[in-house]
Amino acid sequence: MDNCIFCKIIDHKQPAKIVYEDEQVVAIEDIRPQSPVHLLAMPRKHLPSLNDAEGSDATILGRLFTVAAHLARERQLESRGYRTVINNGPWAGQTVDHLHVHVLGGRVFHWPPG
Ligand code: AMP
Ligand code: ZN
Repeated sequence: MDNCIFCKIIDHKQPAKIVYEDEQVVAIEDIRPQSPVHLLAMPRKHLPSLNDAEGSDATILGRLFTVAAHLARERQLESRGYRTVINNGPWAGQTVDHLHVHVLGGRVFHWPPG
């Protein structure tokens, strides 16, 4: 997608701190971190949101979460805990229309999230 900031990052046409890349998934550091660790795992495929995922995207969705868990383990977050979040649409606060999983860690998170 031409005007998608995350597609530009994935294509290395926009600077970002890329922390992971494979054939299907790219992960970056969030530019406005909300916790000591704040990463975004995204599919190379431009899916605007989870609402646009279909049955054929099941592998990609699985990869997103296994990469999220890998990144959390790399940062020693698994014993204390961490949060994975997908915001979907305006009421959930989605601001970038390219599906991404937030990986947040390094502090306590409360529930409900507000
Ligand atoms: P969401 O609000 O769930 O759509 O999440 C979008 C996230 O992308 C926010 O946490 C932003 O801080 C982050 N973000 C936006 N632009 C960039 C960028 N150029 N590089 C890294 N993170 C970004
Ligand atoms: Zn995109």
